[in-house]
Amino acid sequence: MKHCSHWIGGKPWAGEAASRGDIYNPATGQVTGTVDFATAAEVNAAVEAASGAWPAWRETSLTRRADVLFAFRELIRQRKGDLAELISSEHGKVASDAAGEVARGLEVVEFACGIPHLLKGGFSENVSTGVDAYSIRQPLGVVAGITPFNFPAMVPMWMFPIALACGNAFVLKPSEKDPSASLLLAELLSEAGLPDGVFNVVQGAKDAVDALLTHPGVRAVSFVGSTPVARYIYETATAAGKRVQALGGAKNHMVVLPDADLDLAADAAVSAGFGSAGERCMAVSVVVAVDPIGDELVEKIASRIPGLRVGPADDEQSEMGPLITGPHRDKVASYLDSGVAEGAVLAVDGRRHPVSGSAGGFWLGPSVLDHVTPAMSCYRDEIFGPVLAVVRASGYDEAVSLVSGNPYGNGTAIFTNDGGAARRFTHEVEAGMVGINVPIPVPMAFYSFGGWKASLFGDTHVHGTEGVHFYTRGKAVTSRWLDPSHGGVSLGFPVNR
Ligand code: NAD
Repeated sequence: MKHCSHWIGGKPWAGEAASRGDIYNPATGQVTGTVDFATAAEVNAAVEAASGAWPAWRETSLTRRADVLFAFRELIRQRKGDLAELISSEHGKVASDAAGEVARGLEVVEFACGIPHLLKGGFSENVSTGVDAYSIRQPLGVVAGITPFNFPAMVPMWMFPIALACGNAFVLKPSEKDPSASLLLAELLSEAGLPDGVFNVVQGAKDAVDALLTHPGVRAVSFVGSTPVARYIYETATAAGKRVQALGGAKNHMVVLPDADLDLAADAAVSAGFGSAGERCMAVSVVVAVDPIGDELVEKIASRIPGLRVGPADDEQSEMGPLITGPHRDKVASYLDSGVAEGAVLAVDGRRHPVSGSAGGFWLGPSVLDHVTPAMSCYRDEIFGPVLAVVRASGYDEAVSLVSGNPYGNGTAIFTNDGGAARRFTHEVEAGMVGINVPIPVPMAFYSFGGWKASLFGDTHVHGTEGVHFYTRGKAVTSRWLDPSHGGVSLGFPVNR
């Protein structure tokens, strides 16, 4: 049985935990270890370690900070297999999916290696005679990241590489369901030369989060998780005077227009609906089939499902793994019954799908609910599992108003061969990320990731230049060096001359 604890001040924490949780292997249903749950005392120790390390890290030159990130990048490349295995063993996602997660996280590290360029300010010479003005961006201090179970490496890597590169110290509170990846990342940062205390990990759940949200030493909070918790994080931490970005849940719609390549659309719906067992914030959970292609599209989607191999990550052939916990699997499956009771047609029942793994695993095969309407709970709720809802729309206008009228606004996609329709959709749809014949794209590290409406509380997306903006604050400087003839005392409002 493994045991995960905190990482504070550059080393594993050696104290006794007041309480612990179990870590499962979702593919077997077995408990494989335990994780310490931090109280306010351990959170305080982590924030103090970060506060102590911050002044020297802030003074560390941009070149040296970038050096640490370059070294970290190399270490991740060397250990990417170990990291992916750790992710699969606690999350359940298949090997190719875990490897993809590491690769997408690595892109943010590579982006952060360019921090000397990203932190360039502006300079205006002679804004007044002999007077220059310039702007600089400076780190905030100690910042915190609180992350979900579904990307135990990538989502923390959306945050800390940029925060550290900007000169902040970081405290990460990963999901208690898959805590091991955070500790390997901490070790690799240390090996890369990051000074002790600049990066810390506190394990745990609500108590640990609450202690971070109100700690006077924490200047900013980045959160990714479900919408109710995102709203709570935003309200609590902003009330405590902190800068907050809180990314929430999703209900991503994929609109298929009648002129689309239906084979491409069906492949996309299956890949993005069932990849990672639907436990991705960018999963397609609703297909909006615009008349008259609904029946044909559903047939094409359904015909692809029997060929999907559902099984554990240690079987290289597996394409879809288990769900994260038994209760979550049962909740996801309950939408199949409630959907039918509310009038949907169960076109594919994932409870009957063959599984190649252990009987105790948290399995549920891919399902399709057809003729879903916006009134049904399977449409309204974020299911976060391998259940694809198909809604029929009479035309483009009805389709786009479904997407824009949905309370969530993370990502959306349109499948069409009509460039004008795609252009119009991109322009008018209310969602933060849009795919055109791409289901549903996660922006590259040099663009920023974030939704609209109930999918984001705060105004700054993560990574990219918005990440740099979030983890720094601006300073505008006006300076005069060579002009002694300043005109003497003047109580008037300064004007430029
Ligand atoms: P979650 O909201 O349950 O947990 C996220 C984090 O918050 C975890 O670290 C958890 O320990 C903590 N937490 C949970 N309940 C809390 C509470 N009551 N008070 C304080 N902290 C609490 O989310 P999850 O189940 O781990 O992840 C899945 C969710 O995350 C889905 O809703 C998914 O859409 C969302 N997600 C969103 C994005 C995005 O970019 N918008 C990305 C990934 C996941």
